[in-house]
Amino acid sequence: MNLYAQLQKIFGYSSFRTNQEEIVKAILARRDSFAVMPTGGGKSLCYQLPASIMDGTCLVVSPLISLMKDQVDAATAFGMKAGLLNSTLSSSQQFEVLTRLQGGHYDLLYLSPERLALPGFLERLKTAPLSFVAIDEAHCISEWGHDFRPDYLALSALKHELPGLPITAFTATATHRVQEDIIHRLALHQPLMTRASFDRPNLFYQVQLRDQVNDQIEAVVAAHPDEAGIVYRLSRADVEKTAAWLQKRGVKALPYHAGLDNMVRNRNQEAFNRDEAQVVVATVAFGMGIDKSNVRFVIHGDLPKSMEGYYQETGRAGRDGEPALCLLLYSRGDYPRLKFFIDQLTDERERKAGLTQLGRMLNFAEQPVCRRRAVLHYFDEQYGPDNCGACDICMHGVQTVDATTHAQMISSAIYRTEGRFGASHIVDIVCGAKTARIIDLGHDRLKTYGVGKDKSKRFWRNIIDRMLSQGLLISVGAPYPLLRITTTGEEVLFGREKFITHHIVEEKRNTGSLAKASADELPYDPQLFSLLRQLRYDMAKKAEVPPFVLFSDKSLRQMSSFMPQTPEALFQIHGVGQTKLEQYGQPFLESITSYLANHPEVIPQEMPESSVPMHTQPRMKKSSGAETLDATWQLIEAGLGLDEIAARRGLKSSTIATHIGELLQQGKAVLMDRFVDQQVQAEMSALFAKHGFSRLKPVVDAMEGRAGYDQAHMVRGLLISQGWTKEGGSNDESA
Ligand code: ADP
Ligand code: ZN
Repeated sequence: MNLYAQLQKIFGYSSFRTNQEEIVKAILARRDSFAVMPTGGGKSLCYQLPASIMDGTCLVVSPLISLMKDQVDAATAFGMKAGLLNSTLSSSQQFEVLTRLQGGHYDLLYLSPERLALPGFLERLKTAPLSFVAIDEAHCISEWGHDFRPDYLALSALKHELPGLPITAFTATATHRVQEDIIHRLALHQPLMTRASFDRPNLFYQVQLRDQVNDQIEAVVAAHPDEAGIVYRLSRADVEKTAAWLQKRGVKALPYHAGLDNMVRNRNQEAFNRDEAQVVVATVAFGMGIDKSNVRFVIHGDLPKSMEGYYQETGRAGRDGEPALCLLLYSRGDYPRLKFFIDQLTDERERKAGLTQLGRMLNFAEQPVCRRRAVLHYFDEQYGPDNCGACDICMHGVQTVDATTHAQMISSAIYRTEGRFGASHIVDIVCGAKTARIIDLGHDRLKTYGVGKDKSKRFWRNIIDRMLSQGLLISVGAPYPLLRITTTGEEVLFGREKFITHHIVEEKRNTGSLAKASADELPYDPQLFSLLRQLRYDMAKKAEVPPFVLFSDKSLRQMSSFMPQTPEALFQIHGVGQTKLEQYGQPFLESITSYLANHPEVIPQEMPESSVPMHTQPRMKKSSGAETLDATWQLIEAGLGLDEIAARRGLKSSTIATHIGELLQQGKAVLMDRFVDQQVQAEMSALFAKHGFSRLKPVVDAMEGRAGYDQAHMVRGLLISQGWTKEGGSNDESA
């Protein structure tokens, strides 16, 4: 069995991700495995691929009933036989599924852990043809984990009741203690152990001070029109406020929190899943049930409680591997607010752990080190490169500044008001604000009043935050903390020490600009992309599945870059396997072909050499782009002219011209003089040499009406087939 061929044929991927191949091979060898993989790491493929090869059914144990249908839909779209068994089915449906299972009908059967716990169920499985068991979210079996589910304990009986059936356990979060616990409880036998890196290279991490939270959020949303995003807020009230704010500005945003009616919550989640709502504003209650792969940004409007949470939540961005933005907005004031909640915990151990977690989170937000390095450090991973190329620190840089005078202004205001006020009042004094409180207290007569009015409130808040994090100040009391000067702070106040701090250089205050996460990002045609996106939406609606089940954003982006017009070419696109090609390919090919016909000036990017072995070349039942090219070629060979071919085929002549260009590039010997006047060929060749081959427009413009795009397509094809583009020199200089 050629695994790579199978990978290409079913999933349309050309390579495995970290550890996938090892795990697949272990399963095929009927060995137990234990895999730690970050969200988006590609767990499903690890069991779906062997399930497609092995005899019998793979049981997939998954805790989230709400996700099962999407998982089944996704597997079915890949051409696998998948079913589910949970309490949402009627008893006759359940009976039917069980009968099919006995009959060996499924490659995959998704079931909930409760199901396995039902009396007699394991007994029934003994007679079913099974291949192996895959356990998702395996940490739910451990009381040491953060998400213990008693139902999972039933899985402990699997090894005993069904000896010889291999088990693969997956988790995205596992400390060593949880890890040992999982292996012990499942009684895994000498399992293959893998742990993938927690690095998510396509995520851009950014941290910003919060001032006008809704404005800041809106700026990001506005910079990602038509792109899905999640906004996390700490409180339900803030969720509602932010959602309403965005709605008022015309954004399709929906709220999600535990206070909403179950039905409303499910409806909102579903709308988001199906690309009907652009943004979900949610508390952390939102997430476990989200499988959507094309989330392009995740914003935290408040400081999360732990790095673990931050990582999981940001991890929901960019699961398709395409660039995505993770923006954390925070203010120092979040710390006392969160600490206040943690202080309410009665369990001493929990309280301590909570505070440690919060402290690490705050450090992350405040320290001027590469965010990626810091995230990975949390998971005990060393990050190699000096510059990650995808975080605010690495991209914008950090500047050291001497802020001694500023610190003195702040601490002098605190000093003169005897440490009886909080940050916002101190900022008001320094900025010379005319609030009722200032007037009442006579603080407008203080010597420090208004000394910093040339700077914004945000600036002074920032200085206070820095002074807090560097130990010049402490805040005491909650939930309305007061600022006090520490002994270190006094050293600075009385001029015996300097206060050196840093700030992140931001070229412009634009949270929206999503930096390119990878240097080799493909240029693509946004207009075609949005057409294909609409097509995907319409087709998904008809098929009653979420759009990302059809093709991921990454697939669409490649399509709008390489613009494949034949099934062979479409099969080269990331995420296009045999079944998807057959079921959904044709409308996409048609859409691309007609787009090209209507936009003669557009030139597709050249597709890199195929890595697909010949025997996995696609089959396609219906009439297709390959046949279309073939048909054109036959008419050319029969000696017909451009317009005749077009008429005969019922296509536009511009389409035939692009066919000829493509046939030439494929190395077909088309006699050019039949289609383009020799003089025009010569002139155009010179123009291409001058302007480069990446655009037709400059060439056609320079011809001043003596020839058009049709001719340009054909001449370009001829020149490329003759190897002109490889001469370098003038290549692409026109762009
Ligand atoms: P998780 O580990 O969170 O369950 P998934 O299995 O949903 O992750 O996979 C995340 C995304 O990665 C999916 O969109 C999937 O199509 C993609 N993916 C998985 N394996 C590969 C691969 N080998 N090459 C390219 N994309 C992959
Ligand atoms: Zn970095």
